[in-house]
Amino acid sequence: MFKNEDSSTEERLDLEEQRQQLLQDKASILNDLEHLGEAMRNSEVDIDLEEGDPQIIEREKYQALVTNLQTRLKSVERALAKIDLGVYGICERCGKPIAIARLIAKPDATLCIKCRSEVEKLAKRGIIYRPPKNFLEAFDILQNEEEESKSNR
Ligand SMILES: [Zn+2]
Repeated sequence: MFKNEDSSTEERLDLEEQRQQLLQDKASILNDLEHLGEAMRNSEVDIDLEEGDPQIIEREKYQALVTNLQTRLKSVERALAKIDLGVYGICERCGKPIAIARLIAKPDATLCIKCRSEVEKLAKRGIIYRPPKNFLEAFDILQNEEEESKSNR
């Protein structure tokens, strides 16, 4: 559970509400994935079908949807892990807080609006932003260091 240590701050984000929203998103994604999985099993194709066959096209469409959902699921799980680590709502690119309104609209946002638009601009020039893979460990280490420096005092 999250302690609300600074209740005087009005612009504070309700982490518990964000967590509930994320859990809801996760449940609905898992539900969609399950339905897609069933649909895919029901449309098992014959091996000797030729490329361009409607059945194969249908299957590829399912596969694209599944990939899309899995990406979203990872993003939602990442956000949930961040809440647990106490680093939720921090931009992964610049380390600054993400605007509360943005987090409410998109609870699994990983970038602030400024970075988001910069990343989109770069993408148009063919430079693809890759989020740091080990950011959770990095945050974890930061937290431990903070605690250590506190206990040394
Ligand atoms: Zn940023």
